[in-house]
Amino acid sequence: MKIVFQNLTKKFPARNKKARGEVVAVNDFNFEIPDGALVGLLGPSGCGKSTTLNLICGLQKPTGGKIFFGEDDVTNLPPENRGVGLVFQNYALYPHLTVEENIRFPLENLKGADKLSKEKMKEKVYAAARMVQIEELMERKPNELSGGQQQRVAIARALVKTPRVLLLDEPLSNLDARLRLQTREEIKRIQRETKITTIFVTHDQDEAMSISDIIVVMKAGVVQQIGRPQAVYDDPVNLFVARFLGTPPINVFDGEVRGRRLYIGGEAVLDVCAVPDQPVFVGIRPEGFILQEDGPLHCHLSHLEVMGRDVSVVSTHENSQNVVIRSIIDAENPPEEHAKTVAFAIKPRKVFLFHKETEERIRFELG
Ligand code: ADP
Ligand code: MG
Repeated sequence: MKIVFQNLTKKFPARNKKARGEVVAVNDFNFEIPDGALVGLLGPSGCGKSTTLNLICGLQKPTGGKIFFGEDDVTNLPPENRGVGLVFQNYALYPHLTVEENIRFPLENLKGADKLSKEKMKEKVYAAARMVQIEELMERKPNELSGGQQQRVAIARALVKTPRVLLLDEPLSNLDARLRLQTREEIKRIQRETKITTIFVTHDQDEAMSISDIIVVMKAGVVQQIGRPQAVYDDPVNLFVARFLGTPPINVFDGEVRGRRLYIGGEAVLDVCAVPDQPVFVGIRPEGFILQEDGPLHCHLSHLEVMGRDVSVVSTHENSQNVVIRSIIDAENPPEEHAKTVAFAIKPRKVFLFHKETEERIRFELG
């Protein structure tokens, strides 16, 4: 089922009466989600992710704009008629019901022509349980399950009615690191098998990048960029997106373009064409540094962090916006540990320039 947002907007009155105006939680969102895609909706807390999901499932009404499932305008359809499966961070299982009863719950409310026989319900409940691999837990109560198992039950419950659309709001946030990894692979597998169009909300860029076919990066209610995870990482449209994606984060310097050269401090670090002279923010990905004795960029070496395959070189620079600069270097050729400075050459494709005021990307050609 493809999903279309047309100028989707949601405003809330300001909570604080003294504060004037309103909160625009979702601001003019336009997007067509292809049938069967897994979309990661990504952004910091408060950027409008949950509000977007609530609009899609019908728990909230938009202030403006429309939502289509396929060709159906569902904007004013009540939630129960939309065919949406929902999973939340806190599982929201009924504590007094068994796993089986929890999963069956949505089927028991079906009325009229949709009403199911006991056998049919059981079939569907077990099919959903098998999908998330919890068949052996059917008699347990939620408090007899681990967090990961509870979340599987919640996912099975969302799948049992074979929804047209599956919405997951920070579903892994309550799980510990290992379960988080495992469960996100699980969700990816389930989505591939069912091919249900899925929107996965998270503030964790790593999670969104690894699981999604397409990511949508939001900031303060406004969509910043939409694309394949790698494409957005390799080609961010602005400083916010560049900073939001990647661990360790991108290194940002105050720089200047002057006479077809890019300067950081007094050092000309790259030849750049087709950019008028101006001050800029220079973003360099951690993997964009090459240790090179006669490299043009000199940083003060702080220490090395061994990561196994790689070494993270931690250094500082007067023009760095980040407290420290992290460069990822092949562990076989680390810098001299007690050196005062390190010299780097820079991989041009790992360097992005941004306008000092607007923070929009400035594209350059290599000199
Ligand atoms: P996210 O899920 O990305 O953390 P939300 O969608 O929950 O963000 O919230 C987006 C913005 O809308 C925030 O500024 C939040 O305070 C505001 N907001 C959300 N729900 C309400 C509400 N019911 N009333 C007023 N403001 C709200
Ligand atoms: Mg939220």
